Amino acid sequence: MTDQPRRLLDEYRDVQKAIELINLGARLQVVESEVLISRPKLIRLYKELQGQSPPKGLLPFSTEWFLTWQPNMQASLFYGIFQQMQRENPTSERLDLFISAYQLYREQVQHCPESVALGITRVWTLLRFFESKQLDLAVCTRCDGRFIVHTHSPVKQFVCGICQPPSRAGKRLKKANKDVELT
Ligand SMILES: [Zn+2]
Repeated sequence: MTDQPRRLLDEYRDVQKAIELINLGARLQVVESEVLISRPKLIRLYKELQGQSPPKGLLPFSTEWFLTWQPNMQASLFYGIFQQMQRENPTSERLDLFISAYQLYREQVQHCPESVALGITRVWTLLRFFESKQLDLAVCTRCDGRFIVHTHSPVKQFVCGICQPPSRAGKRLKKANKDVELT
């Protein structure tokens, strides 16, 4: 650390980023990890934007969750968007790419029920799991799509959850299709 005070412009940019993240629904722990703003200031900012105190409690921290059927489809879609943005904007900052990728992902799933679409805090934990190399992508041998798997899990002959849904999900899908036909 230097004795020089922090540049006002840098602080201003961090406040802008924090506002974007909070407005997108990010938990305080997420914002705190991504910007250099003191916790009391962040809590004030959160209250001003959301009209209430930030929720307490731990973040969802399980790689397993991302391997379950529906979350895996959603998370794989988000991560595909994020990687494409990274390739197209190699000089952009990670946090900017993350925010843009999340906004694009939400546009893509705007017709999904709110309980299915992933919140920004979930998606942020997903990114951290990739960065800590706990999760990886595998290519489906049937559809060539890329899906999230555990790092080091055997991926020869990998078949994704769309090509081979688990039996319960299959039933749900069939029922959903039937419901659509009936209406
Ligand atoms: Zn597939």
